[in-house]
Amino acid sequence: MATFKGFAMKKLNETGWVEKEVPECGPLDAIVRPTCVSPCTSDIHTVWEGAIGDRKDMVLGHEAVGVVEEVGSLVKNIKVGDKVIVPAITPDWDDEAAQRGYPSQTTEPLGGWKFSNFKDGVFGERFHVNLADANLALMPEGLTDEAAVMLVDMWSTGMMGSENANIPLGGSVLVIGIGAVGLSAIAGAALLGAADIYAAGTRPISVKVAKEYGATEIINYREAPIDEQVREATDGAGVDSVIIAGGNLTNTWKEAVASTKAGGTISNVNYLSGADDVLIPRVEWGCGMSNINITNGLCPGGRVRMERLARLALTNRADPELLVTHRFKGLEKIEDALYLMKDKPKDLIKPIVKID
Ligand code: NDP
Ligand code: ZN
Repeated sequence: MATFKGFAMKKLNETGWVEKEVPECGPLDAIVRPTCVSPCTSDIHTVWEGAIGDRKDMVLGHEAVGVVEEVGSLVKNIKVGDKVIVPAITPDWDDEAAQRGYPSQTTEPLGGWKFSNFKDGVFGERFHVNLADANLALMPEGLTDEAAVMLVDMWSTGMMGSENANIPLGGSVLVIGIGAVGLSAIAGAALLGAADIYAAGTRPISVKVAKEYGATEIINYREAPIDEQVREATDGAGVDSVIIAGGNLTNTWKEAVASTKAGGTISNVNYLSGADDVLIPRVEWGCGMSNINITNGLCPGGRVRMERLARLALTNRADPELLVTHRFKGLEKIEDALYLMKDKPKDLIKPIVKID
């Protein structure tokens, strides 16, 4: 196949199908045919909010599992025909940022995020993966496509949110936003030993899964400011850790800071858009002296991360398939799935598209 069809961002605020040349497979790389993909809220920020600027005819999507069609001459462990889990983030592992411990930030800030950012993504008949041995994980026995595609970005990002949140064993956590990312943060917080997990969100299907993943109390952010509700629920104490996985730049940061105990941690995974500045409330932040630390990060990628998340699923620590609410079949349905993600109906967490 010299060309492939893909669903693309044609320019800001416009999507459509494109026909492109199949990319060349470098000596360390692979070409993969997707068998299951899922749109991400980040695709929505990219196309309709201009969060990373304009792109022209860029194939969207960064959540996929698939079958290897071609490998470069120096690839050792991945073979043509292998079923693989493809991390959303595919770092340059020899870069200095990777050696400093930040592989998602290789070559430039957010540089490990290549699919649907710097190059064509996974919403096509074929896509290119850099450093196949380091970035592709073999699909283990017993894991379905649906489960595996929830690991590559949702679990990896949400669970990083909890890993970065310094959660004390038996401590308290507030997760703001219970889309697929926030839900994964709840699962991570529970696995890391949080006792009390407050979850802010309203979509009924998300509320249900939040409880199944370990949330102990649901906060409806539409009824009153989140921090007021958290303070009330904790007898004024606040929580040890806050994970931001949703919300906006008008209220959320204020509510997060005002919910956190002195010495606590706020861990952001939300992709900020809609305004240029993040406003940290001075007094609630202890005039800058409260020891409330703010951390953030881009989804971790690479083979070992995927293997570990797959082990979590296979050992029944949590069920990734709980995130999948809508199922489509056929490449052309990617368009419907993306627009569903844009509309966010009340019964949606994540759609997936199976491709033959
Ligand atoms: P969703 O849109 O599915 O979920 C957002 C959640 O935020 C919902 O629960 C929504 O509530 C809630 N929310 C909306 N407004 C408010 C508010 N004012 N206060 C509190 N909560 C609010 O998003 P996803 O879970 O798919 O993604 C979450 C974020 O993570 C996105 O910004 C996405 O781009 C980003 N992301 C970041 C990555 C990274 O590497 N750091 C990787 C992948 C995604 P309701 O239940 O009412 O709808
Ligand atoms: Zn994403």
